[in-house]
Amino acid sequence: MKLPAFDYACPATLAEAVALLASRDEAKALAGGQSLVPMMAFRVASPSLLVDLRKLSELRQITIDTSCVRLGAMVRWRDIEDDARLVVAHPLLKAAVSHVAHYQVRNRGTVGGSIAHADPAAEMPGIAVTCDAEIAVVGAAGSRIIRADDFFIAPLVTALAADEIVVEVRLPTWPAQRRWGFREFSRRRGDFAMAAAAVFYDVDAAGQAHNAHIGAIGVGDRPVRLTAAEAEVNGNIVDATISERAGAAASAAVDPQSDIHASSAYRKSLIGTMVERALQDASAVKAA
Ligand SMILES: Cc1cc2nc3c(=O)[nH]c(=O)nc-3n(C[C@H](O)[C@H](O)[C@H](O)COP(=O)(O)OP(=O)(O)OC[C@H]3O[C@@H](n4cnc5c(N)ncnc54)[C@H](O)[C@@H]3O)c2cc1C
Repeated sequence: MKLPAFDYACPATLAEAVALLASRDEAKALAGGQSLVPMMAFRVASPSLLVDLRKLSELRQITIDTSCVRLGAMVRWRDIEDDARLVVAHPLLKAAVSHVAHYQVRNRGTVGGSIAHADPAAEMPGIAVTCDAEIAVVGAAGSRIIRADDFFIAPLVTALAADEIVVEVRLPTWPAQRRWGFREFSRRRGDFAMAAAAVFYDVDAAGQAHNAHIGAIGVGDRPVRLTAAEAEVNGNIVDATISERAGAAASAAVDPQSDIHASSAYRKSLIGTMVERALQDASAVKAA
């Protein structure tokens, strides 16, 4: 299908990109085009100016330091897949990204594009919320940091202002002994999640879990933490009974809508199973 007419700019600096975005109400950033171009083809979006970010090489870096893993906005899924450091530095991220789409899309789709697009069934926003990520953005008024939990508002709606660019997603550092699991159910490999669970917790010397984080993807209008399920985990040794209880708490905590893919009741049941299985995987993960 033919795209609507638009102007195109390919700035060489971030400052220039911000100025271009601020220059018109209907300007939009272009990353890999994996969501924006289909939306334009279907006339869901008709930006008058596309500001292509592909020359901004500073947004393509994955940096790992003592405080966090920094994912530049133009880092592609393939870059995460290919980065062997992340096996230790953020195994949960790596596992989640392996479920994103198909090879061709993973070759172009980006971290910043997924975060800004804010599909509630997408893996990266779910990982950002589960892991208490910070999202660094820059706009005409300057730069700011937005907590992932404050960033996602509704499907395709975020806290990002029209002239702001996502620069970086910061995931807090990952202790070596951390237990984690990621489970997703979709109709076919590479489809968006019908429901997915991202979980991690730390264990003390007695084997009891603390700092449990349990995130749900695809069962609401944005990714969410499931605090009732986390409460079932904290203070306990995670075994089959605790995993089952946490799964039941997860099911009870969500109220997904029915759609053409699944009924609300099915998704509610599914997220419980995903949380239970992810916790069982976590309890079986050997320390790195
Ligand atoms: C067939 C198919 C299957 C897919 N399956 C999955 C899946 O299973 N899981 C999943 O998570 N995703 C999936 N995707 C989405 C894909 O992973 C892309 O990451 C996502 O579409 C974002 O695309 P993009 O990075 O190319 O951004 P674009 O399409 O270029 O942009 C998307 C939106 O973000 C804005 N934007 C882009 N970059 C920035 C930035 N740095 N700052 C501010 N705004 C920005 C754009 O203006 C636009 O509104 C699928 C896509 C396709 C086509």
